[in-house]
Amino acid sequence: MQNFLLDAEDLDALIQAIRAPGRQLKGPILRDGAIVYDDVHSANDLPRGWTDVQEKGTYRVVKRDDDAFFGYAVGPHSWKKFLQLPRRLVWKGQKNTNGVQICEVQEPVPDLAFIGVRSCELHAIAVQDRVFIDDRYRNDSYASRRANLLIVAVNCTTAAPTCFCVSMHTGPQVTLPCDLALTEVIEGTQHYFLIRSGSEQGARILQQLPVKPATDRHMEQGENAIFQAQEQMARGVRHFQSEDLKELLYRNYDSPLWESVADRCLSCANCTMACPTCFCSTVEDTTDLTGEHAERWERWDSCFTGDFSYITGGSVRADTRSRYRQWMTHKLATWQDQFGSSGCVGCGRCIAWCPVGIDITEEVTRFREMEKQ
Ligand code: SF4
Ligand code: SF4
Repeated sequence: MQNFLLDAEDLDALIQAIRAPGRQLKGPILRDGAIVYDDVHSANDLPRGWTDVQEKGTYRVVKRDDDAFFGYAVGPHSWKKFLQLPRRLVWKGQKNTNGVQICEVQEPVPDLAFIGVRSCELHAIAVQDRVFIDDRYRNDSYASRRANLLIVAVNCTTAAPTCFCVSMHTGPQVTLPCDLALTEVIEGTQHYFLIRSGSEQGARILQQLPVKPATDRHMEQGENAIFQAQEQMARGVRHFQSEDLKELLYRNYDSPLWESVADRCLSCANCTMACPTCFCSTVEDTTDLTGEHAERWERWDSCFTGDFSYITGGSVRADTRSRYRQWMTHKLATWQDQFGSSGCVGCGRCIAWCPVGIDITEEVTRFREMEKQ
């Protein structure tokens, strides 16, 4: 697919072309000391000149020494909050003279677009598609939001020390289908985007932009920028072999190392809330004081909460050891049997947002080292 050149100062033309048919555009913004995903109305909303500094249990934003729009890795939010809503009304029931009338709630489905989706995040959306659309139990709310979604992806040119998409083969270069893909290049005084379309919708938007064909030199600069992110990870402490993770964890189901992680884990569920692939939810039924009106709500839940696995008088995972083992083994091993892919895309969110700094890649290494001993 041919790449074109879009001057950085014309990025707003792209944003307005996406929003023109009444689409709601979601993208990165700076709020409350973090880069989060929310409404984007113009290029001025983007976190231009900001980056994130991340490590185990640590996240903060700092100024960059350039004006990059997408010069950060990933923050606490993921795109799942717009597709699998954190809380939604499923049905309402009303008592009347004829008995109880149940009314399923069809929430309005906005025409959505995302800008700034990273390669690992595209893989995470593909994982959730597999769960919510392609599996036996289709989630109509997710499927309707996903149906007309327009995705503008961005190749990563800066990796955080928590990123390990190279190990999970999910990045940093965008390889999965998307409507438009951008690569941001800052070279001396030049600041531009390489842009290519990957769908008819994307091509129609591209036609409206003040672009010119990219030269070989521009393409080379774009590839160098992505390679830089790849190299940062390949040399990083979190670079590891992922091919045998399933067998490794199955062999270590009864390892004493689970006790050691349980000693540190707070069972707070932060990792599952931040993870872009975690999809567990629960339903809650409520009634009003008159007992005549009832509602069923679906909301995000986590395998780290006691109630989540509570069945007829007890929890099947009563301690933190079994909860952490369930989470990590599901992500890296049983997910492969269940869905045919890894449940982890290597985004590193669970590492940065774990309040006690538990690092899933370190835990993998500990199992390998123990086996060697
Ligand atoms: S398990 Fe951690 S690194 Fe893997 S996708 Fe989830 S948040 Fe990202
Ligand atoms: S691993 Fe960390 S983020 Fe996850 S539940 Fe335990 S303490 Fe919380």
